[in-house]
Amino acid sequence: MTHMEWIENKSLLRHNTFGMDVYARWFTEVQSEDALRNTLARAGDIKSPLFILGGGSNILFTKNVDGLVLLNAIPGMDVVQEDEQYVWVKAGAGVRWHQLVEYCIEHGYAGIENLALIPGNTGAAPMQNIGAYGVEIKNVFHCLTAMDVQDQLMHTMYADDCAFGYRESRFKREWKNKYVITSVTLKLNKKPDYNISYGAIARELENMGVKDLSIRAVADAVIKIRMGKLPDPAVIGNAGSFFKNPEVSADTFHALQEKHQDIVGYILETGRVKLAAGWLIEHCGPAEGVSWKGYRKGDAGCHALQALVLVNHAHASGADIFELSNRIIESVQQTFGVALEREVNVY
Ligand code: FAD
Ligand code: NAP
Repeated sequence: MTHMEWIENKSLLRHNTFGMDVYARWFTEVQSEDALRNTLARAGDIKSPLFILGGGSNILFTKNVDGLVLLNAIPGMDVVQEDEQYVWVKAGAGVRWHQLVEYCIEHGYAGIENLALIPGNTGAAPMQNIGAYGVEIKNVFHCLTAMDVQDQLMHTMYADDCAFGYRESRFKREWKNKYVITSVTLKLNKKPDYNISYGAIARELENMGVKDLSIRAVADAVIKIRMGKLPDPAVIGNAGSFFKNPEVSADTFHALQEKHQDIVGYILETGRVKLAAGWLIEHCGPAEGVSWKGYRKGDAGCHALQALVLVNHAHASGADIFELSNRIIESVQQTFGVALEREVNVY
């Protein structure tokens, strides 16, 4: 199919996990490269601004979208290459990420089991180099294909082109809205190289009584931990971690440790230290002796089990959540002298 309907004034309520009831001036869904090409050409002809949407799980809408919202629903999952040790799996941008994880586990392809249950679509995964429990997509990334919004030409990009960093890539910066990612190819291992360096996984595997490690067991442990700790967007609006974990120098970390003995930090290969933003947020608050963790003003709040996650209890606006995020940034800055950066894309 090359021509898809454009719907006028469509609510995006069911298309963003924060549950913001904003509207798109125009909305359309594409399921093939041809449909995408036609849609981009048409949007270009009428000079409509464009918003590329996947599962809407990493976006805070603070206003209506006065332009075209393009839902990328390109399907497909295939093995495109294989040798004795590796298998290259290509997935369409519209494939749900967790569906790809399950497919790989079923077939014994190792490398993304730690990334089980991350919401959203495969096309958005390289955008912020999704990561969890010591693994990032860049560890298994082979390439992606993307269409240039301006001239609709296709490009293949490899890891170096994408400039992956901690929850970062070129697509989150200078390539934002310049390319639509259409597929992602991962290079997965037939022989698992387990990463259970995060204490929570090892503990959960022990609780589960797992004797023989498998990618299924690791994924199940991750799923159990996540389900116990993270708010389900179907129940309470959120977009996962709202802030990134900030990095500081070793000297700054030691100075902080003198004042706050329990502060949580992880030494990186570079010698710098990654601070757990959740700890910082938990240990300051809106008033003396009050923590942000579990704080609520109207319907905008900070999750009671994980302070890094901001939540929409029911009818908070994007502006309410954004304002709360500003207050938290200010409070962390004042208490610890550390600058928090938002991870979620704000529109
Ligand atoms: P969307 O929110 O739809 O889009 C995100 C951004 O990418 C937007 O700027 C959009 O314009 C752009 N974009 C989307 N698709 C494309 C495309 N095809 N081409 C170009 N640009 C595109 N993230 C982690 O890294 N690790 C986690 O463990 C994690 N846990 C989460 C837990 C919960 C409960 C929630 C709600 C979120 C979590 N996230 C996590 C954040 C989020 O799930 C991921 O960032 C995910 O990859 C976003 O995918 P999406 O399809 O929903 O993207
Ligand atoms: P957690 O296990 O309570 O740990 C708190 C923080 O400490 C995490 O952010 C993690 O950093 C860091 N950490 C813990 N153990 C570490 C280790 N062994 N080495 C290095 N750093 C370590 O965190 P959580 O909130 O339950 O989340 C668990 C994992 O899922 C984390 O990797 C987190 O990033 C991911 N997650 C991400 C989102 C999102 O929206 N981005 C949402 C939920 C969960 P890192 O974050 O750098 O890993």
